[in-house]
Amino acid sequence: MNLDEYKGVWVFLEHQDGKIVPVSLELLGAGRKLADKRGVPLAGILIGEGVRQLAATAFHYGADTVYLYDDPVFRDYRTESYMRAVIACVEKHKPETILYGATSTGKDLASAVATDLETGLTADTTMLDVDEATGLLEASRPAFGGNIMATILCKKHRPQMATVRPKVMKALPIDTSRKGELIEESIPLREEDIRTKVLKIVRETQTKIRLDEADIIVAGGKGLGSKEGFQLIHRLAEAIGGTVGASRDAVEAGWIDHAHQVGQTGVTVTPKLYVAIGISGAIQHLVGMQNSGLIIAINKDPQAPIFQSCHYGIAGDAFEIVPMLIDAFQVTAG
Ligand code: FAD
Repeated sequence: MNLDEYKGVWVFLEHQDGKIVPVSLELLGAGRKLADKRGVPLAGILIGEGVRQLAATAFHYGADTVYLYDDPVFRDYRTESYMRAVIACVEKHKPETILYGATSTGKDLASAVATDLETGLTADTTMLDVDEATGLLEASRPAFGGNIMATILCKKHRPQMATVRPKVMKALPIDTSRKGELIEESIPLREEDIRTKVLKIVRETQTKIRLDEADIIVAGGKGLGSKEGFQLIHRLAEAIGGTVGASRDAVEAGWIDHAHQVGQTGVTVTPKLYVAIGISGAIQHLVGMQNSGLIIAINKDPQAPIFQSCHYGIAGDAFEIVPMLIDAFQVTAG
C-alpha cells in the first residue's frame, strides 16, 4: 500500500431528526486541528435521504468539503448500505484519516468499514493528535483495564480510523460565513441488493436522564457505604439543582441505576460543576469527568487519587460535610 496516496481528514457526519448530531460537530473541530497541522483539507461524508442542506452546517463548523450520498436507499441507517458508500468514497478519494462518533451507528459503521478495508480502528479515543510530517494519527485511549493511556498508531494501512465519544472533543464556534465545496457521489445500489430492511422505528418512551447535558452533577461512590448512605447524594443534588452521577462501584452495589454511571463504561460528562463524593478517582472514572469546568472532591482519605484531579478538595467524612452543605444551601435558598 502506498501511504502517500492518502491525503486529508474526514469526519462521518451522523444525523438524526434532520440535524447533524453534536458529536459529529465536535469531531469537525478536532478534525480541523489535525487537518491544519498537516496542511490538508477537512471533509465530511454525509449519507442519507434529503440531507443535502446539512452540508452547510458542516461548512459552518469547519469542513472544507462534503461528500454527499443522497438517495432513498440511504433513508435509514443500515450497516451494509452505509458501509458500501463509505468504502466507495474512500477508494475514490483516499483520505488518510476518518473519525466517527462513538455512537451506536458510528461504532457499527466504523468497525464494518475497518474490517472490509483491512485497516486499523481505535475505539473510544479520548485524545487525538497527528505527526505533522507523516500524517500518522496518534489516537490515545485508556488501555489494560484503564490503568494506562495507550497511544495507538496504524503504521501500515490507510485510512487510519478512530471513534470518539460524545463530549470529549470541542466543536469550533459556528461561523455562518464559512463556505465549502459540496461533491455529489453515488453508488449503484438498489433496495433489492440490501439484505436488511427497516420495518419500523420505535422510539424510547421512557424519559432518560441526560447526565451529558447537566450543568451540575453531584456524583457518589462506594464511600457512601450503602443505598441509604447514597441518599445523601440525592439530597445534595436536590439542594443545589444538580443531577445525580455515580461511580461504577456504586452502580454495581445496586445503589443507583447504570444510566447514572460516569466514566469509561458509563457516560462522559462536562458539567460546569462536578462534585465527587466518596469516589477514589480511578482512571476509568476520571476519563468520564475530567473535562468538567470545576471539580470539587470530598473524600475521607487525603491520599485519594481524586485529589490530584480536582480544583478544590475537602478531606473529610462525607457524612459530616455533606449535611452541612445541604443545610447551607437550603438556608441560602430559603
Ligand atoms: P472506591 O475505589 O472503593 O473508592 C471509595 C472512596 O470513598 C475511597 O477513596 C474512600 O477513601 C472514600 N470514602 C470511604 N468512606 C468515606 C466517607 N465516609 N466519606 C468520604 N469518603 C469516603 N468506574 C467508574 O466509576 N466508571 C466507569 O465507567 C468504570 N469503567 C470501568 C471499566 C473497566 C474496564 C474497569 C476495569 C473498571 C472500570 N471502573 C469504572 C471501575 C474503577 O476502576 C473503580 O473501581 C471505581 O471507579 C471505584 O469506584 P469508587 O471510587 O466509588 O470506589
